[in-house]
Amino acid sequence: KYIKSIEAENKKLNAYVNITAETAMKTAKNVDEKISRGEILLPLEGIPMTLKDNISTKNIETTCCSNILKGYVPIYDATVWDILKNQNAVLLGKANMDEFAMGSSCETSCFGGALNPYSTNHVAGGSSGGAAAAVGGNIAVYGLGSDTGGSVRQPASFCGLVGLKPTYGTVSRYGLIAYASSLDQIGPITTSVEDAAIVYDAISLYDKNDATSQGSKTKTTHTLKNSIKGMKIGIAKEYFEGIRDDVRESVESAVKVYESLGAEVVSISIPQLKHALPVYYILACAEASSNLGRYDGIRYGYKTPSYNDINDMICKTRSEGFGKEVKRRIMLGTYVLSAGYYDAYYKKAQQLRGALVNAFKDAFKKCDVIVSPTVPMTAFELNFTQKDPIETYMTDILTVPVNIAGLPAVSVPCGFDNKGLPIGMQIIGNSFDDAKILNAAYQYE
Ligand code: GLN
Repeated sequence: KYIKSIEAENKKLNAYVNITAETAMKTAKNVDEKISRGEILLPLEGIPMTLKDNISTKNIETTCCSNILKGYVPIYDATVWDILKNQNAVLLGKANMDEFAMGSSCETSCFGGALNPYSTNHVAGGSSGGAAAAVGGNIAVYGLGSDTGGSVRQPASFCGLVGLKPTYGTVSRYGLIAYASSLDQIGPITTSVEDAAIVYDAISLYDKNDATSQGSKTKTTHTLKNSIKGMKIGIAKEYFEGIRDDVRESVESAVKVYESLGAEVVSISIPQLKHALPVYYILACAEASSNLGRYDGIRYGYKTPSYNDINDMICKTRSEGFGKEVKRRIMLGTYVLSAGYYDAYYKKAQQLRGALVNAFKDAFKKCDVIVSPTVPMTAFELNFTQKDPIETYMTDILTVPVNIAGLPAVSVPCGFDNKGLPIGMQIIGNSFDDAKILNAAYQYE
């Protein structure tokens, strides 16, 4: 059924960049046989799903939606896919994304952007736009995306879905093609909080192949139904500045729902949030410029057809293979790391990162969770992000702080604008409080 709907719907949504129908059918048949033998299935067994195209899949092309990786077929599975494959998850295909996860609209993809299931004049969001379009368009039950600065939460918000960015280190990054390693985290995009919890519980295992892996300390599915009476909801005024009125009002109404459920609203202030956006773009670009050094025409994917010597080969391969946004970030990252500028930009950003981590620690002494909008607006019209990169970067203002601090956050739908486009609310928790934010999200939903 899903494969049939993909054939029709994907032309409209451009959610999938590679459809793996044959292997999907094979896995589904195995599961059917297990059912006919009366065997008990694991929670995600036989469920049709998708993976963002920066999650490595053995023997299945993985491109990061970049020309430089076209034709690259990994020789190993990312840990998240290894776990799910062992549960007979049915991979329908690889999902569209911004090139190397750099973007907020999916439009930097070399395959063109994924469109919003609510309105195809609007983007699905980014960078995990394909996964959100697939789940929102009912052509996958769930998707795994990666969130470096909002790439799971923002497309979830734009497509009326649930998007979880887990605590850094709880989900293995092994086999996730790196954008900014100290910020990257894989998370689920689903239609319900319960689905997000089920997927998160399945994938949040300790992995010796990822040096930053810790696994989750508690399962999240068992506590979803707990009462939130007495839960302290922090409202930081900094998260509500410069937000479109209808978005702010929707989130404020959602906070009232929390009060009616017995939660207590606490006003807090995190002045350090004003530094989050520049800190994010300095650190993310710095790490990206280093991580993307490996695409040299020798080790992976694309190689320029004609060249004079090795320097010429590397230069031409990278000039032809990378798109404009990726090049911009490599240049910015190289600049902030260069001798003479390192202290002024990179070191300063690291210091401010520490300050933001401490500010969140203090904030969580006063409240259990922090609630904010996920994005200051609803889904962008097509080509909006192609006009002005700085204006686009600004729209990440509400999602990047948790990546800088390594915290968990979930986006849940909380209304619609007057065009019928979904609005998202973000619930942020202290480190390893993934269960608490999912409990709060479930109680609202
Ligand atoms: N939109 C942000 C960026 O362009 C976040 C991307 C992400 O989380 N991968 O960097």
